[in-house]
Amino acid sequence: MSRIVRSVFSFADRAANTPVTASATARAQSRALVLWTLLALPLGGLLMLTTQDKPLTSPISIGIFVGCLGLVAAIVYLRRTARIRDASLMFAISLLFGLGVSAWILDVPQLLPLIFLAVTPVYVGLMVSWKTCLIYTSCLSTFLFALAFWAVVNPNASVDVVTNVLGCALAAFGSGVSTTAYAYTTALAAKKLKRQNNEIAALAYMDAMTGIQNRRAFNERLNNEAACDAAKVLAAIDLDSFKDINDRYGHEVGDEVLVELASRLKEAAPEGADVYRVGGDEFAVICDAGPLSPRLLAVMLSAVSQDAYPSSAGALPVRISIGLSASAQEAGGLKRAYREADIALFETKRAEDKRWCIYSEELGAAKNREARLSDLLKRAITQSKISVAFQPQYNISDRSITGVEALARWDTEDFGAVTPGEFVPIADKSGLIVDLDRCVLKQSVLEAEKWLQPDQRLAVNVSGKTLLSLNFLDHVKSVIALSALEYDQLTIEITETEIIDNKAEAKTVCDALRALGVSIALDDFGTGYSSLSYLSTLPINTLKIDRSFVQEARTQSNLKIMKSIISLANSMGLNLLVEGVERDWQLETIVDLGCERVQGFYFSRPLTSAQCAALLSTAPRRAVHQANLGRAISA
Ligand code: C2E
Ligand code: MG
Ligand code: MG
Repeated sequence: MSRIVRSVFSFADRAANTPVTASATARAQSRALVLWTLLALPLGGLLMLTTQDKPLTSPISIGIFVGCLGLVAAIVYLRRTARIRDASLMFAISLLFGLGVSAWILDVPQLLPLIFLAVTPVYVGLMVSWKTCLIYTSCLSTFLFALAFWAVVNPNASVDVVTNVLGCALAAFGSGVSTTAYAYTTALAAKKLKRQNNEIAALAYMDAMTGIQNRRAFNERLNNEAACDAAKVLAAIDLDSFKDINDRYGHEVGDEVLVELASRLKEAAPEGADVYRVGGDEFAVICDAGPLSPRLLAVMLSAVSQDAYPSSAGALPVRISIGLSASAQEAGGLKRAYREADIALFETKRAEDKRWCIYSEELGAAKNREARLSDLLKRAITQSKISVAFQPQYNISDRSITGVEALARWDTEDFGAVTPGEFVPIADKSGLIVDLDRCVLKQSVLEAEKWLQPDQRLAVNVSGKTLLSLNFLDHVKSVIALSALEYDQLTIEITETEIIDNKAEAKTVCDALRALGVSIALDDFGTGYSSLSYLSTLPINTLKIDRSFVQEARTQSNLKIMKSIISLANSMGLNLLVEGVERDWQLETIVDLGCERVQGFYFSRPLTSAQCAALLSTAPRRAVHQANLGRAISA
């Protein structure tokens, strides 16, 4: 049975061309129209044929024919436009027309309207609502039953009239109750579906772990801000060292910290603010500006780091970085504010002493400069426009030159000379650093082979990314093979902070380099975080003490640090080189501490290849005085 019903419904759906996406109510309505039409067409035909002598030309036939034509037209209209309400109206008018004309011709005007009335609840139930249908059915049935009662008590009414009116009353009542029930269940199902849809939609906008709004909700907020009626303050928040927490305590503890942070942010944020989780450990807060300044919001949000975070690994200190921006009430304002807050957040992360930073025009200009420099740098590397300077390294006792350090130099047309302090981090961030380092390595080897003595070394800076890049070892081999230099004349300088994440891999590459005869120097020693663990894992030959210690060598604390670094290096049999010696007193301090090798402006600034060649040819490995040195090319 259900199969037959299903096929009838599917036929009706196809006849009405009901879209798959149509709601349950629209589907029920269009099915009703089609099925009523299918019923009305043969009935009308039968009426035409059985009640008239001239079935096709009599007035009743014309009435029925026009009525049926209207029904068919309503279905065709529905197929084309899917406008169910208009089609229903056409349908109702056609039905009325057909029935009205027939009733008039048949001369039973009192009966046909009653028949028509008896079936109207079906129409009301399907087309309007179950509530209206219920009220309508109650009124209509009461009226028809009252009429039937009147006919019963009226001695003039024939038995036929009494039965017909009673039948109509029963039919109206039956059709009304069943249609109300049907419309009610359909409405209930539609309501349930809507609720489920709403729930699904709400879930789609919620971060399952923290229970706050997710990236999708955040993006929609940025995109739909046309509805935004006031200036906003936006904070971009990032959890510091989240990777460390995950690595040390496991992802479960990491998740606990995120959940706690989300709830603290909600508490700390001002009333009416929206808190979003926009990425792994990234959050955002949007609130009305009003009297709230970005500074005040930053102070409020910073409170989340005050107390340690409870977790299954114990109480953990957690710090966050915040970038803030205020959005004006303009199109695209929130999107712009997010971009700016992100720039400010980056600045907070970069400056280690800051906890928050508010976006400013200067910050934006710096960001633009960085983007422009990144583009130019890419071109400069591919067009070999990066040059190399060489800074000699000295043995203090006999002032002989033990080697040189290659330092990248970049002159631009738009910005003049850009320092490595600026372009190396840009290259590192954009991934250009690998090409840059390889280019400097090759260039410096090919230059240094012209003047470097066999007992002197060339030191080249190599970033962590380059060290771990594909085929780095092959690159070193091919460069050395191209030149007259030996492997043992090459030193690779690595910076401790750069290889923190991949110590094991770094060790493999460094071991391979050592096996070739290349030396490894740990640059800027003392400024990173895990110096000692590096010393025990990596095959280091030389420690380069960072120039910050030398420059502050008068302070007791720095002296102490230098002393302990020196005794550590001695006990591990490592060579020491002190960077950044500029003045007499610094040199004296270093000599007192027992250091042998130095590099710094006191002896020589970085030189061009030609200057270096001249310097090495005049005083190659004997005592050299500062005054005799070639002119510096840059700091
Ligand atoms: P670094 O490897 O520690 O190089 C020494 C830096 O200290 C050089 O700065 C040098 O000019 C400067 N310096 C040397 N003696 C003195 C001194 O007495 N006083 C002062 N104030 N500074 C001195 P530079 O050339 O600006 O390079 C800065 C940093 O950029 C380098 O520090 C190195 O980490 C990085 N770098 C330079 N070239 C390259 C490269 O080709 N690849 C990579 N990855 N990094 C490079
Ligand atoms: Mg260096
Ligand atoms: Mg250094």
